[in-house]
Amino acid sequence: MKMYYDKDIDAGILANKTIAVLGYGSQGRAQSRNMADSGLNVVVGLREGGASWQKAIDDGMNVKTVEEASKESDIIHILLPDEVQADVHEKSVSPYIESGNTVSFSHGYNIHFKYIKVPKDVNVTMIAPKGPGSMVRRTYLEDFGIPGLVAIEQDGTGDALQIALAMGKACGLSRAGILETSFKEETETDLFGEQAVLCGGITELIKSGFETLVEAGYQKEIAYFETCHEVKLIVDLIYEKGFAGMWNDVSNTAEFGGLSRRERVINQESKKEMKKILTEIQKGKFTKEWTMENLSKQPMLNRLRAIEHEDEIEITGAKLRKACGLEK
Ligand code: NDP
Ligand code: MG
Repeated sequence: MKMYYDKDIDAGILANKTIAVLGYGSQGRAQSRNMADSGLNVVVGLREGGASWQKAIDDGMNVKTVEEASKESDIIHILLPDEVQADVHEKSVSPYIESGNTVSFSHGYNIHFKYIKVPKDVNVTMIAPKGPGSMVRRTYLEDFGIPGLVAIEQDGTGDALQIALAMGKACGLSRAGILETSFKEETETDLFGEQAVLCGGITELIKSGFETLVEAGYQKEIAYFETCHEVKLIVDLIYEKGFAGMWNDVSNTAEFGGLSRRERVINQESKKEMKKILTEIQKGKFTKEWTMENLSKQPMLNRLRAIEHEDEIEITGAKLRKACGLEK
């Protein structure tokens, strides 16, 4: 494991460089503001008339079109949605990339799966916070940061790693620690994590628990509290103190029940399916499916979204969160 902290990084390498941050969404807004507040020369690249344009101006950022920002910058940090990056790169970024520039990302998707190709004399780097933009910004303002990842796919200038690390330092990530990885590892594990565990796995686990209780005749609101609301409390404990800390904090009854029953819920069958999901990612099958989806205006995603939106747990949760003042 190679971990970098503030003391290991010389941010001076960016002193005379201009950094274009393309996109002003979750990551773009947080990272560009942190970098600007750390004293870097940042220009935000956006499409004129888009919703973020005025927002970035209101935040006091230097805003230009994607083309102008790319043209005048040494480092182009692409923080657009992954599915639009290749198109925007081809039309509005790549014509302005010069030898010795750096093209940077917070997720390796488009480079690893070769949707974006960059000339050999240009750096291809990644600096990726391990959390949403709102946290990147909030922790930075609290004089801390969230951990991050750094990876180098192409080192055209010989100091690509130093450049990427300095960007991470300016975002506040090396206050917590920046771990070295590769584009391949970051991309494949990130996709797997969100599909099997973080976004896919956990929602289905919650939903199955909720449905089991409701189908057995218990009140929906009670079922929601037990199987969904309390997930955060448990995850917070695991986040702070690991499994052991969580087991220590819950009752002995919960510990005995959980440890003795969990493998009946998630078992070898689930793991076999997880391995299949990972193989689909590694072989590019998932990526192909997602590309097709985007070529035809996301029909499956829209259908799945509509079904999810109407799910009983969502309707119950929305009412309950409102009634308890958890959501305004
Ligand atoms: P967002 O979806 O929040 O990005 C939206 C921004 O992109 C808006 O400013 C939008 O501008 C702009 N945009 C969208 N389409 C275009 C276009 N065609 N031309 C110009 N601008 C456009 O992205 P995220 O911040 O979620 O993700 C950015 C990158 O960070 C991705 O690579 C992602 O994988 C990575 N990442 C994201 C994390 C997260 O927590 N969200 C965590 C770690 C990495 P407009 O207002 O004009 O639409
Ligand atoms: Mg992720």
